[in-house]
Amino acid sequence: MLRLKNIRKDYIVGDTIVHALRGVSIELRKNEFVAVLGPSGCGKTTLLNIIGGLDRYTEGELSVSGRSTEKFSDTDWDAYRNYRVGFVFQTYNLIPHQNVLSNVELALTLSGVPKAERQRRAIEALERVGLGDQLKKRPNQLSGGQMQRVAVARALVNNPEIILADEPTGALDTENSITLMEILKEISKDRLIIMVTHNSMLAEKYASRIVKLLDGEIIDDTNPYVSEEVPAEPAVKKARGRSRDEKIKKPSMSFRTALSLSVNNLMTKKTRTFMTSFAGSIGIIGIALILALSNGIQLYINRVQEDTLSTYPITLEAETIDLTSLLKTLSEKSGGKTKTDEELGNYVYVNNVMYDLMNTVNKTATTKNNLSAFKKYIETPDENGKLPLDGSASSIRYEYGTDLNIYVTDKNGDIIKTDTISMIQNMMSSAVGGDSSGLGDFMKMTTSSGSMSMYSSLKVWEEMIPPAKDEDTDSLVGGILTEQYDLLYGSWPKSYDEVVLIVDSNNQVNDLVLYSLGLLTAKEMYDSFMAIQSGEDAPVDLGPFSFEEICDTTFRLVLPADYYVYDDATGTYANLADTELGLSTLYKNGLEIKISGIVRPNPDAVATAIGGGIGYTTALTDYIAEETATRDVVKRQLADKETDILTGLPFPDEDVAELTDAEKADAVREYFKGLSAAEKAVAYTEIMSVPS
Ligand code: ADP
Ligand code: MG
Repeated sequence: MLRLKNIRKDYIVGDTIVHALRGVSIELRKNEFVAVLGPSGCGKTTLLNIIGGLDRYTEGELSVSGRSTEKFSDTDWDAYRNYRVGFVFQTYNLIPHQNVLSNVELALTLSGVPKAERQRRAIEALERVGLGDQLKKRPNQLSGGQMQRVAVARALVNNPEIILADEPTGALDTENSITLMEILKEISKDRLIIMVTHNSMLAEKYASRIVKLLDGEIIDDTNPYVSEEVPAEPAVKKARGRSRDEKIKKPSMSFRTALSLSVNNLMTKKTRTFMTSFAGSIGIIGIALILALSNGIQLYINRVQEDTLSTYPITLEAETIDLTSLLKTLSEKSGGKTKTDEELGNYVYVNNVMYDLMNTVNKTATTKNNLSAFKKYIETPDENGKLPLDGSASSIRYEYGTDLNIYVTDKNGDIIKTDTISMIQNMMSSAVGGDSSGLGDFMKMTTSSGSMSMYSSLKVWEEMIPPAKDEDTDSLVGGILTEQYDLLYGSWPKSYDEVVLIVDSNNQVNDLVLYSLGLLTAKEMYDSFMAIQSGEDAPVDLGPFSFEEICDTTFRLVLPADYYVYDDATGTYANLADTELGLSTLYKNGLEIKISGIVRPNPDAVATAIGGGIGYTTALTDYIAEETATRDVVKRQLADKETDILTGLPFPDEDVAELTDAEKADAVREYFKGLSAAEKAVAYTEIMSVPS
């Protein structure tokens, strides 16, 4: 079934190499129960991950049913992981708010099996593990042993030829371990089970073969096997020749392929294929992530903790979308069968892609986190004066939904707002002439919900992480950040109204940043864009700019509350930014922000906290919050929560927004009707970036 020949796996961690596997050769039968024993860190998990196709080997050869995986394409690997292998982990990884049956079904949902069959197969798998009478229970109503059996049923439901179990009894007591082993033994009659365990007693009692691993090498094998050299089955035939009598399924697309599908393709190809495949691939990635997280990467984490903190921060959001149910809804949409020509007649039908997408995202459950309580908790010291996260987090940064309204006078003397959305709006109006602020609102609407923004990678302004501990630096940043960056010019911010420009290793900034510095206008950007479209060189000559010139830039910050002036006549507030005069008044009275220095990532830093752009300090955020709270408009609004004091009207009742599906569809259609072709393109792109 499987043959490993001299498999080696090296992990490169910083500048050392970890030899996790040092030449493993072994052959495994189609039906057997193999237990892999060995001390912690000897490479068991690595071996399992390689066999399961979750990790690639560095050297050697792995063959599946006589076919070498050397020439496996991404699609082959996906098919292999999806349909031929099942995984069981030490932690059960069940979805807490879904019942036992749905948990098992989910594995099939993601591979696009129709509902009725899904249920039948899930029940069958649960019966096999003795849980046929617990279908409607939720994971927290089960014992650990039962949860692990649900996990086994989930691995089994796709009827894979190989089941990989990484310390499945690790968290179970003896009795539950024995039950589980009996089930695995039973299952191994018609498939290959490879189980990693610490418990040699269990292994000896139940496994048909014990393989011992030490320091990345096999040191013992109780029941070795050498197959006769059979000619390799060609790829296509093998898929068809699968012993289980199922039709060949179209394997899921790889994650990358799915991502690379552009909106264009989406609009023309069958959406349902895309959705199913996309969802399926996320399932795989999810499993790979869980594996990676629950196992081997600790060493790596320790080693580069400081550096990666900034690249892989743990982010807690006030509101998150439940991705699992999103995927489920999306893939359920993909059901349905092709109609006959008679049923169809001579008509062209419409597939409501945009509406479905928006509606699904809208309907998907969002989880709300109580971040204020959490913030209070992590900021309350215990009796020894220790904070709960002392020693576990290098730095904590709070992000607020503050609008950073920063303006600059560009080289033409125009006052412009220096963020990406305004820039795009500006560029659009260069393109179409007139007003495209509606589009901006749309983009804000779609970007404000969660982190689903394609603009997050295009951010110009970024808050820097504050000092790790209160060090006696005279700057407002320190710790990791100052270790990661070299100061090229000037100084790190010393007060809240100072920011730094971050350049890359070649002292470059991107054109978006240049726009924000007022050194490139939207018109020039648009002209270059058009020139490139028609194959010409960009007409604008960009830089270089001297450090002094850059640091001469002065920005103006306008507090969101300051836009509004009270109008005695109407008893409401007017937005000053709506008029040119108002805007220039706001600008003149805005807080001056200076660039105090220019910094560049240190060549020794493995990863850096901020990608490039303009970095401001936490002190500025605090300033905005504190100042805003003193404003009249804010105080009034807080005093009267029922009324939108800007308009004098009551806030819309959220329940009123409960529209029927058809009404929503109409609303969405109406909205899109009003957009120009260019605006539609942006909107589509924006919506498609949601699943990332
Ligand atoms: P086991 O499962 O037997 O405890 P692993 O297979 O997890 O061992 O790990 C084998 C060796 O490889 C260990 O030294 C471990 O630290 C290292 N290792 C595993 N995964 C990674 C990784 N992603 N990056 C770096 N080193 C790793
Ligand atoms: Mg392990």
